[in-house]
Amino acid sequence: MSPEDVRKELSEWLDANWDPNRPLIEWRNILVDGGWAAASWPEDSYGRGFDVRQMAVVNDVFSEKGIVGAAQAGPRRLAAETILAHGNTDQKKRFLRPILTGEHAWTQLFSEPGSGSDLAGASTKAELIDGKWIVNGQKVWNTSAHHADWGILVARTDWDLPKHQGLSYFLINLKQSGVEVRPLKQMNGHASFNEVFMTDAEVAAEDMLGTEGEGWAIATTTLSIERQGFARGRNQRSPREAKEGSIYVEFAEELAIANEPYSWYPQREGRPDLVMKRAMDTGAINDPVVRQEMAKLMSMSRAAQLAAKSAAAIRKAGSNEVVPAGSIGKLGASVIARQSAHVHTMISGADAMLSGSDSAEAGVIAETLVSVPAISIAGGTDEIQKNIISERVLGMPKEQRMDTGPFRDIKRN
Ligand SMILES: Cc1cc2nc3c(=O)[nH]c(=O)nc-3n(C[C@H](O)[C@H](O)[C@H](O)COP(=O)(O)OP(=O)(O)OC[C@H]3O[C@@H](n4cnc5c(N)ncnc54)[C@H](O)[C@@H]3O)c2cc1C
Repeated sequence: MSPEDVRKELSEWLDANWDPNRPLIEWRNILVDGGWAAASWPEDSYGRGFDVRQMAVVNDVFSEKGIVGAAQAGPRRLAAETILAHGNTDQKKRFLRPILTGEHAWTQLFSEPGSGSDLAGASTKAELIDGKWIVNGQKVWNTSAHHADWGILVARTDWDLPKHQGLSYFLINLKQSGVEVRPLKQMNGHASFNEVFMTDAEVAAEDMLGTEGEGWAIATTTLSIERQGFARGRNQRSPREAKEGSIYVEFAEELAIANEPYSWYPQREGRPDLVMKRAMDTGAINDPVVRQEMAKLMSMSRAAQLAAKSAAAIRKAGSNEVVPAGSIGKLGASVIARQSAHVHTMISGADAMLSGSDSAEAGVIAETLVSVPAISIAGGTDEIQKNIISERVLGMPKEQRMDTGPFRDIKRN
């Protein structure tokens, strides 16, 4: 379908169906049934198989008309795309619709106190008892778990196999008595992630994604989707202008909850967009050393934009070459954020230590400096990205392993 045809069909469909006074969930069900909630998804999974060019038109039309689209905020996209890639027909049918309508929010239950970088060393246990998986263990750093209905969970189902082979992937309902979610407070004052304790928590047999032992391969899909997303951010935007209609009130309420854990995410990217303004406002622009560091930051940002464009072009051409694009992009975002924080510190000097609404940029600079470390950790640390790039892109020898053999015999923590 040509971009012009997409525009015509979607515009006509919206003119016939959109009503800003419809309840939000009712509207999103209509969107799903019309195939416009996730048009890039395959036709058998509520989509139309649209490519990047066609999706650009879809997004433009929604934005021009100020129409509320499918729910997108938070980790639900990680769950949705992993289910799309590995789910069976029944799972796609049951889980994808409530993700799109916003009825189900999700969280990612991967990291544990003893296994973050070494995710394959997870020791949360799942045992099949009387036709149900019984889960015991602890996860940590789980963003949005305090708002989530469901979690994507990696747990160990076989302790006698080598560690990567004994893991399975589950879709777990968090609204059950066996699951306890405890928020954690960060050094920037926000509390966007949590500890999640599972004590005899239950997962229905049909809610295992893929087959037993396939957990590591499926987790790799989730992680690669997550790493590609570091350039894009997780907030879903509300329509630019205030609009009349009850649906906008419901949508704003939904976004206030779903976006809350991500309110500091622009700051963890280092706020390079504020560097020039701060340099001009403070006169630091006249300092040759600051200018040098600013130039370094700008050239890094430009190089990252070009690399992202090149990765998108390779993807569009249908090549397999894109595999490490997520790791390279994520490492790039981390280096840029740190350089930006360095420049902000040079510009602000001792004032950078002041926080609160009467400090630089109403507290945004102070928040940036204590938020930037997160980007080098979340979704796999810088060192892990370097390992992936060196082994899978540059073909360097693999790290020496001390963890082969049955998982139960491996030294942990
Ligand atoms: C903002 C944020 C949001 C997050 N959200 C989630 C979430 O929603 N769900 C979730 O499951 N997790 C989440 N995490 C957790 C994140 O995935 C882990 O923190 C991360 O994988 C690192 O694990 P770790 O903290 O256990 O550090 P460790 O693995 O203990 O690493 C400690 C240090 O050792 C280094 N290191 C470890 N192994 C190697 C190696 N092989 N080679 C070289 N260096 C190494 C690391 O680079 C790091 O510097 C989040 C983290 C952050 C910061």
